[in-house]
Amino acid sequence: MSNDHDDRKEIIGDFLTWVRQNEAAGMEWFLDEGSAPVAGTPQPAPVTGTTADPDDPFLEICNQFVAQTLGLIERQPPVRKPDPSAQDKATALAALRDEVLPCTACPLHETRHSTVFGAGNPDADVVFVGEAPGRDEDIQGEPFVGRSGKLLTKILSAIGYGRDDVFICNILKCRPPNNRDPQPAEVAACEIHLKRQLAILDPRVICCLGRVAAQTLLGTDASLKRLRQTVHFYEGIPVMATYHPAALLRNPGWKRDTWNDVRKMRALIDALKLGES
Ligand code: SF4
Repeated sequence: MSNDHDDRKEIIGDFLTWVRQNEAAGMEWFLDEGSAPVAGTPQPAPVTGTTADPDDPFLEICNQFVAQTLGLIERQPPVRKPDPSAQDKATALAALRDEVLPCTACPLHETRHSTVFGAGNPDADVVFVGEAPGRDEDIQGEPFVGRSGKLLTKILSAIGYGRDDVFICNILKCRPPNNRDPQPAEVAACEIHLKRQLAILDPRVICCLGRVAAQTLLGTDASLKRLRQTVHFYEGIPVMATYHPAALLRNPGWKRDTWNDVRKMRALIDALKLGES
């Protein structure tokens, strides 16, 4: 007779099987040029084969992560939320977008080309939150385009998502000049937009991309290294943190940690969905 532990193991096993069967497409982002392991650094075994290996150490790590996270979720104070339909969410998000696009609440509106509200599925299981638009995003009015956007698309593909399956946005909706770090006053002015977005989207999981996004959303100055170690909560929603794709382009050796982060996140989402069914 199965129990919760067996169920979770099965979910994760199924997921890893899926990853392996889709290795050619899914792992492209991870194995591309420049992502070779750093010499002398202990590395997990490469992903090979077509079935989940029950002795794969990552399977147990993933299983423990999901079990601990579900335990943490159970101990969270209940947050009463309405249960809107996907259409209701889309309508509310479109109305918020119309409000945010002409925003002049901080000086960044003076230098922006576009306000980058965010894009994706209003009923997404996961919302990715980055730092701020860059040059390409500012020009196109879309989040995560350009090189780091392409890498994010590959990361999503590696865990079975297309861009339209998730929602992607940033802490700041307008580009800081020369891509400098957001200033506290800008973050404070823009935070309300993100809060309202997340209240509408109400995803199963939030994934912060990079230190600035994680620190801002969680109201902490802890390092990204520490924040990656465990799950956090925002308004009752589990929050995970991993590296920003732009940082991965500069430091390809971090892709392996990112790969483990996003696999754990996907396993958690699958376990949460199973628990709701
Ligand atoms: S960064 Fe945010 S607060 Fe500042 S002008 Fe843009 S939308 Fe408004």
